[in-house]
Amino acid sequence: MSTTFPDLGSVSQWQEELYKHLHEHPELSMEETETAAEIARRLEAMGYDVQHVGGGVVGVLGNGDGPSVLFRADIDALPVAEATGLPYSSKVEDVMHACGHDAHIVCALGAAQALAESRDLWAGTYIALFQPAEETAEGGRSMVADGLLDKIPRPDVALAQHVLVAPPAGQVATAAGPVLSAGDSIRITVFGKGSHGSMPHLGVDPVVLASAIVLRLQGIVAREIAPADFGVVTVGSVQAGTKSNIIPDHATLLVNLRAYDLAVRTTMLEAIERIVRGECAAAGSPQEPTFEYYDQFPMTDNDADVDARVRAAFVEHFGADRVQHLPRIPASEDFSVVPDAFGIPYTYWGLGGFTADQTPVPNHNPGFAPAIQPTLATGTEAAIAAALAWLTKE
Ligand SMILES: [Zn+2]
Ligand SMILES: [Zn+2]
Repeated sequence: MSTTFPDLGSVSQWQEELYKHLHEHPELSMEETETAAEIARRLEAMGYDVQHVGGGVVGVLGNGDGPSVLFRADIDALPVAEATGLPYSSKVEDVMHACGHDAHIVCALGAAQALAESRDLWAGTYIALFQPAEETAEGGRSMVADGLLDKIPRPDVALAQHVLVAPPAGQVATAAGPVLSAGDSIRITVFGKGSHGSMPHLGVDPVVLASAIVLRLQGIVAREIAPADFGVVTVGSVQAGTKSNIIPDHATLLVNLRAYDLAVRTTMLEAIERIVRGECAAAGSPQEPTFEYYDQFPMTDNDADVDARVRAAFVEHFGADRVQHLPRIPASEDFSVVPDAFGIPYTYWGLGGFTADQTPVPNHNPGFAPAIQPTLATGTEAAIAAALAWLTKE
């Protein structure tokens, strides 16, 4: 460990208690009122200039001339009924921190305090940004829409981390380039003509139409995307009708897609619309289908120079055996919204959450229960080490 690394003694005292408190009191996306208030109160006590922006909280700590680093933590929980059996399980029915954002908050607050208490070690501006509604891809856009760009100094770089099932707890994982996919959801409504189930010739059956669409969509990745490229098209929901002897007049499909390449994403989006319209025409549908796009996540595409600088800082601080390669994850994130709005480079790394004697349970699972330590200590140190890669005095 470098001798110029901030002391974490006063931070580790409260981190575990705050983690359990946040885990017991999760709040859904864009409803993080108490969580945001707790974060703001603590940042103010540390000496940060604190603002509430778009449902989130941002704290700025100026410490003389130098670079400006933004570190982002997401703060929302999920509509999941917790089944971990932990003594600090969620006290809110059907809401759970099942993605580790409670750990992200605690690590980011720990880093914020350690940097505030060690201003002799660094120079520049540290921006601790706590973003709401990552799970619904709304939070980054909400903060930008509420004037974030005019409310804080322009950062030189943006950083973020996420608790994952791999690497093991106590380790971090980084990579340059696309690490998380772009994701889109589409609500598609196709129209038929209602009829008695015994008289199909008098109607247009949207159940058969929707079924043909579901099968035909499987051809997009198999036949239209190059084998070397990554793409996923999943129909997660098909709904039509109420009764066996009624042909309904419409069907609704919920489609989700993922890509690591925006050209592939465009190809898939265009193919979905083309196939749906084509099948509707083939079925004699009496009305054009409708497409409602929602939960649209941008790609997370780590800047190569930023990633190299963070990785070098991690290797220096943790040792090479605790710094792994982050494989591509087909999940999606809205972290890049804020750095893209500023036009600044960013990187996003994985934080190990499970020790060797635990069976890792994936994010969003009702049993998701990362080890409190060494996860919190590692995540706090990672945030500090990465920020100091820009802020350390020459
Ligand atoms: Zn999540
Ligand atoms: Zn998450």
